[in-house]
Amino acid sequence: MGKNLNDIRADFPILDQQVNDEPLVYLDNAATTQKPKAVVEALTHYYYNDNANVHRGVHTLAERATEDFEAAREKVRAFINARSTKEVLFTRGTTTSLNWIAASYGEANITVGDEIVISYMEHHSNLVPWQQLALRKQATLKYIKMNADGTLDMADAQQQITDKTKIVAIAQVSNVLGVVNPIKELAKLAHQHGAVMVADGAQSLPNMPVDVQDLDCDFLAFSGHKMLGPTGIGGLYAKEDLLNAMEPIEFGGEMIDFVNLFDSSWSELPWKFEAGTPDISGAIGLGAAIDYLNQFGMAAVQEHEQKLVNYVLPKLLAIDGLTVYGPHDPAKHTGVIAFNLEGLHPHDLATGLDMEGVAVRAGHHCAQPLMKYLNVPATARASFYIYNTKADADRLVDSIVATKEFFKNGTI
Ligand code: PMP
Repeated sequence: MGKNLNDIRADFPILDQQVNDEPLVYLDNAATTQKPKAVVEALTHYYYNDNANVHRGVHTLAERATEDFEAAREKVRAFINARSTKEVLFTRGTTTSLNWIAASYGEANITVGDEIVISYMEHHSNLVPWQQLALRKQATLKYIKMNADGTLDMADAQQQITDKTKIVAIAQVSNVLGVVNPIKELAKLAHQHGAVMVADGAQSLPNMPVDVQDLDCDFLAFSGHKMLGPTGIGGLYAKEDLLNAMEPIEFGGEMIDFVNLFDSSWSELPWKFEAGTPDISGAIGLGAAIDYLNQFGMAAVQEHEQKLVNYVLPKLLAIDGLTVYGPHDPAKHTGVIAFNLEGLHPHDLATGLDMEGVAVRAGHHCAQPLMKYLNVPATARASFYIYNTKADADRLVDSIVATKEFFKNGTI
């Protein structure tokens, strides 16, 4: 491990500001993370020095842009331990990646009576594409339940996944409950029944080591902006044999080999799926974000976050009238913590916290079926990342208490 995680706030200039006359505490990292200078500088460097279209130029700038773009792909490959860069597609993010799987693999492999298994805790991005695919194909969408503490009910998973199952799609980390789901175990179960395993890595890649070979998942989707990278770039990992058998989703430049008047052939992997000019600067920025995270190593990133959860979760649980969703055992909870204060709408709670300079999210977190399952209209959610400190955790707790007092007494 290189750099010390306790000493990185200077790398994030945005954190050094006042919000409502209070120093900003940014706890909305599950929505999007802030960007270190190294990422912003990688974007600037690219546009100041190397900007050109990739793959089709012979001039020096085009070669440099192509080299940097493909080097970013190699960084993603190494980060998730894919076997080859052929298995790493750049997309707009998790949502696009999951839609691509449904539109290509799903379209070709799902038929009447097949089953797709997801869980009640899925983000809409890992729910609606499967729901719509099931509707199109007259397939059945099935949901795995949760245990009382919000962890996935693996006994129910055993029941739901059957020989009719063709796709199992589950988030590795929930963006509401903060639980880590056992993707490796689920992949094994899926494979025993001849199904493929899709992992939604939107909340796991930023926060923990993820090794696609170890997990043996068939697909993994993720977003750059949740792991210090720019918005508009993300990735789709898929096993090479699956990608070889799949049809591209989009057609046009960059993804073709030969184009004739009435038929065409496709480029090799991974370019077969990447039609049109890609988000070159975004990919380079994502590569810089991965370099930044690699200075610490993902085990250290996870450990830092766990320490914060161990510190803050008992303090939150001790606040009278505060309900925390997901496990109350810090060892089972990642840095995404959803909660509600009795008698207060989560939007009012989030507004109260904003008055104190503390940024949290309130709403359904793109997980309406989960809200229904929990029997709440919405929740507030604090989510921690590498630049957060115990002082930030204290500010969160103090602000919740102050907001509670304000709504009780009418003063803050
Ligand atoms: N899945 C999960 C678990 C998420 O948290 C998110 C983002 N909130 C997404 C999918 C969608 O990611 P994006 O909006 O970057 O496509």
